[in-house]
Amino acid sequence: MKGPSVVIIGSGPSGFYTAESITKNLNSDIDIIDRLPTPFGLIRGGVAPDHQTTKKISSSYTKTAEKEKVKFFGNIEVGKDITIEELRELYDVVVLAIGSELDNKLEIKGSNLQGVYGSAEFVGWYNGHPDYVNLEPNLNTKNVVVIGNGNVAIDIVRVLSKTSEEMSDSDIPGYALDSIKKSPIKNLYIVGRRGPVEAKFTNVELREMGKLSNCVPIVNIDLPNELKGSYTERDQRLIEKNLETLKSFSTIEKNNKEKKLNFNFFQKPIEIIGDEKVDSIKFEKTKLEGSELRSTGEIIEINCGLVISAIGYTPKDIPGLNINDGVVENDNGRISKGFYAAGWIRRGPTGVIGTNKADGELVAELANKEFKNQIKDGRAALVKMIKSKNLKVTSFKDWEKIDSFEKKNAVVPAPRKKILTIKEMLNLCKI
Ligand code: NAP
Repeated sequence: MKGPSVVIIGSGPSGFYTAESITKNLNSDIDIIDRLPTPFGLIRGGVAPDHQTTKKISSSYTKTAEKEKVKFFGNIEVGKDITIEELRELYDVVVLAIGSELDNKLEIKGSNLQGVYGSAEFVGWYNGHPDYVNLEPNLNTKNVVVIGNGNVAIDIVRVLSKTSEEMSDSDIPGYALDSIKKSPIKNLYIVGRRGPVEAKFTNVELREMGKLSNCVPIVNIDLPNELKGSYTERDQRLIEKNLETLKSFSTIEKNNKEKKLNFNFFQKPIEIIGDEKVDSIKFEKTKLEGSELRSTGEIIEINCGLVISAIGYTPKDIPGLNINDGVVENDNGRISKGFYAAGWIRRGPTGVIGTNKADGELVAELANKEFKNQIKDGRAALVKMIKSKNLKVTSFKDWEKIDSFEKKNAVVPAPRKKILTIKEMLNLCKI
């Protein structure tokens, strides 16, 4: 007996883990739709270009994509080319795995000045994401401020600090590498509104900052020797490791390094100053009373030509969705019968790639509980609709063409030279 017809919107980690789980639980055809011609979402466009080991997870998604029952449909934008309503009419099970692709906005005066970027656009730029290849951030500045104390902020300061040699085995596009190489950046500031104990860096990522060949990390406060308050064993271990790492930075030889990465804690951004473009940013010093963040009234100002906020993400609004507080309204993955959510769109932009595995299992369980067999046509009806709307769609085979072209054109040791526009991708695939 054939299982329910399934379509997954989004081909990032949560989309692929869901597909993988469903193949194990149901005898269903599973279609995965993405708005880009290429699959893998954040793995290709979000994970930093120098973190190639992390990107290797896509080989396990490839195994899923190559399963007989799974089919990839790239270059279809849900909400524009096809609506959620239409997909719900065509499929028994619709899974939303669209992530949170927009930046949380830094809502302070001056945040619309030239030279102020959100992490989604800046990371997209140095990752060759077709949406952001024309961003052209002006890196002609000595001082850069990155706001936020999470792993995305760390990624950004690391990519801006590494030398071209250190980036040689990455897949950063040439334009971004050149721009960073030519830039006179000397001082980077990574600024948290709370302290080192509250910072959300994972320890491997933080430790990397002590191993850079031309940049020295500097911590601008006295670090606590012991932890106050109560933490889970896991949190306590992570915090202690991070404090140890931050302390170890003071022993790094400074003199032979041209760039300085300043860890500024307890500073809340309050205003960005400039006429047309950013000249400086003002912070107010803060302190914690219990878990409450209090302002102290003490202001500091940092002159800089570039401000990047890495303060989390929010989902794009698509007609037919109820999005509240950065997630689609759902009950543990269930939006309504036959309509489910996985990944950041279900639970917000937290966790690492593997966290999405459990989301996929949850959706497979829900679908299994609510459907036993196929009712709606699914794939056959989608193919018909694609034809009637005259959509240009890529298959997984097309992606493999793009993939091998990119790998063939790479200058060793770079793993690939990314194609940067959708037009070029479609041309290569003769679509
Ligand atoms: P995140 O870990 O949630 O960090 C966001 C940071 O922004 C926090 O320090 C937060 O401070 C701060 N913030 C929020 N609003 C702010 C405001 N208005 N003003 C000043 N600061 C503000 O988010 P992320 O760095 O975007 O990362 C998203 C997820 O992807 C995380 O789970 C992360 O671990 C994961 N990720 C992992 C890797 C990796 O494993 N290598 C790489 C990249 C991303 P408060 O804590 O005070 O709210």
